[in-house]
Amino acid sequence: MSKAAFLTLDTEAFSETTCLGGKEVADEAGEGLFALLDLFEKYGAKCTLFLTERGLSLWGKQLAGRRGTEFAIHAREHEPALGQTEERLTSTLLTMREEVRRTLGAGAVGYRAPCFGIDETIIKTLKRCGFCYDSSALNYRNERHGRLDLSSWRKVSDVVYEKDGFFEFKPSVARAPWGKFPVCGGAYMRMTPWAVAKPVLRRHLARSDAFLFYAHPFEVMRKLPLPKGLPFASRLYVTRGRKQFLERIERMLGMLLEGGYEWFTPAGYLRTLRKNGGDGR
Ligand SMILES: [Zn+2]
Repeated sequence: MSKAAFLTLDTEAFSETTCLGGKEVADEAGEGLFALLDLFEKYGAKCTLFLTERGLSLWGKQLAGRRGTEFAIHAREHEPALGQTEERLTSTLLTMREEVRRTLGAGAVGYRAPCFGIDETIIKTLKRCGFCYDSSALNYRNERHGRLDLSSWRKVSDVVYEKDGFFEFKPSVARAPWGKFPVCGGAYMRMTPWAVAKPVLRRHLARSDAFLFYAHPFEVMRKLPLPKGLPFASRLYVTRGRKQFLERIERMLGMLLEGGYEWFTPAGYLRTLRKNGGDGR
């Protein structure tokens, strides 16, 4: 199989962003979502959206039938999955899957935990609910949120792992001169100066056989409505590097094409794997 690039968006509304602490804001990041989707479309790129209930109700109509887009589950209200009872998580997964089917006419077989908070228990619940893949194992300074030990999983490619017929699509983390660096996107790629991030990304893409990127719609919005009294660290997290991020993402798409990467969604990749005689069940 050719080098695979997976573009993913965590499609919660801006009000649901964890660091806002539940404060409501008027704008719901639709501008950012469609700017990203239009950019991906310009490059013929496929994309996977991890949805919340509010995201689905805000943008579902405009998203239905959008070509090259795969839908997957993020959460109901962006609540962390870690620490939830199995019953509660099961109810979230099944309810959201049904809502995606009803609103978008599409099946959802994938999941990403809010804030990449994942562990083996959640994987077991996903399997029991009939999901085929997870995409939460960032495993980077993520102790607060949990991690998934992939050492006993079979490595299919640099970002795809398999265990007992279930797949993990892991956000990309590079080896940089100073240590590990998540080139997979989000705040890591948005807030780090491009002169620093670019060479690490370029080297990583040259030596990898697969790449997984993620972003949030709010990260490319031109104007971000900020609630009053937002702590300085949260304000910095949501605002820094936002104006240049869309342009950076476009440069990254160019680098992926130059590097011989082909666009995939996780479910599409598993279908290709199955067709090629791999065991993407
Ligand atoms: Zn999220």
